[in-house]
Amino acid sequence: MRYVSTRGKAPPLDFESAMLAGLASDGGLYVPERWPRFSEADIAGFSGLTYEETAFRVMKPFVGESVSDANLRDYVERSYEGFGHAARCPLAQIEPNVFLLELFHGPTLAFKDFAMQLVARLFQAALSRRGERATIIGATSGDTGSAAIEAFRGLESVSVFILFPEGRVSEVQRRQMTTPRDSNVHALAVRGDFDDCQARVKDMFNDARFRREMSLAGINSINWARVAAQMVYYFASASALGAPARKVSFTVPTGNFGDIFAGHAARASGLPIERLVLATNQNDILDRAIGSGHYRTADVKPSISPSMDIQVSSNFERALFEACGRDGNAIAGMMARLASEGGFEIAEPALTWLRERFASGTCTEAETIETIAKTFRRSGAVVCPHTAVGVKVASDQGASRGTAPMVSLATAHPAKFPEAVERAIGISPKLPARFDGIHRAAERVHSVDNDIDEIKDAIRGGLPA
Ligand SMILES: *Cc1c(COP(=O)(O)O)cnc(C)c1O
Repeated sequence: MRYVSTRGKAPPLDFESAMLAGLASDGGLYVPERWPRFSEADIAGFSGLTYEETAFRVMKPFVGESVSDANLRDYVERSYEGFGHAARCPLAQIEPNVFLLELFHGPTLAFKDFAMQLVARLFQAALSRRGERATIIGATSGDTGSAAIEAFRGLESVSVFILFPEGRVSEVQRRQMTTPRDSNVHALAVRGDFDDCQARVKDMFNDARFRREMSLAGINSINWARVAAQMVYYFASASALGAPARKVSFTVPTGNFGDIFAGHAARASGLPIERLVLATNQNDILDRAIGSGHYRTADVKPSISPSMDIQVSSNFERALFEACGRDGNAIAGMMARLASEGGFEIAEPALTWLRERFASGTCTEAETIETIAKTFRRSGAVVCPHTAVGVKVASDQGASRGTAPMVSLATAHPAKFPEAVERAIGISPKLPARFDGIHRAAERVHSVDNDIDEIKDAIRGGLPA
């Protein structure tokens, strides 16, 4: 399996090289040259398998010859053994026909663990075989950074620097990034918002000299290996609900479009998905773009679902590439207009292509709180604010009346966002017992201005442990 860049100018790479590169050399994102096809018989064969075995079978065609079968099986096994639930991603029913897919049983209690745990093992193996080291840099609105630090800490071949917007992540998210003591992982608190963090990471990747000097690698959701790992739970949950005999719909709380693009990738590879619904909070650029055809950034409005406080949705470029008939020049043009003018138009037939494949909706702050309360009242389930955004939009889509079951992705554990949950239901959700002690552990964090030179210096200096 080879991967091509969405901007058409970078040479195609295999899975391992695309993973190590993160961003393509022309600024684009890697996508499979063509989608593999899982037959109905293949998908029927997933029923009753462990999550790990499903992961092996789903990932295999995407990984290709980059990793041997025995090694891939081993990495998958070890990636999920630290999860707090034997099913890895159990389903919980909350309404007639509506299910939560609980993606929050991993070591940092958000769905990011599913991909990051596996990507860390794939990285370490690839680098040590090549006799190389890498500096992983990433921007986070909270959950990516904690998942990355947790997954990569203690690995020999990598140092990790995570940029997060100071004061805009939850206490648990921050502590998950600042309390690990391993000397190869570092949290940088940037005085700015998430888009600033993401832009500085992009600046560093676009600086060829710095990129070479530090052997930069990226693990943001633009990294294809993460998207590939996230496809697995679409297959696993759909098969638990009767696919391929029965179609299944999904609603995905969306920020950077990585998780929902994994759903698209699953569908493009044969999974019978009826509807794929994207749900945004008040930072609704994607909902506006699909509704109006104008992709136009605005200022980020901090919300109670901070992991979705994003105005530049990186992975949307992959969907646009598909929507534009894989025309790399067209994508390069749109991204140039985004950089120079703050937006671009999605012309026909791309807009219709997108609307046929992605339904969308949005959820205000008040509706988020109301939905946490209502879900608790009606089902006893306690959901995090991101999950609530999805549940609300799924409900607007008439989820409980559809013929296909609606699976709403529960992207984080409610105890990661206790203030919002307590405001809604009067109960502060408890962290699982394995997190006892996180509030007392010493923190290690380095504050920097939203300034590329200051950030580069901090990374070059390899912050004190
Ligand atoms: C990252 C994250 C999201 C958004 O996922 P994208 O892949 O960026 O669309 C939603 N909810 C939670 C809890 C997250 O951590």
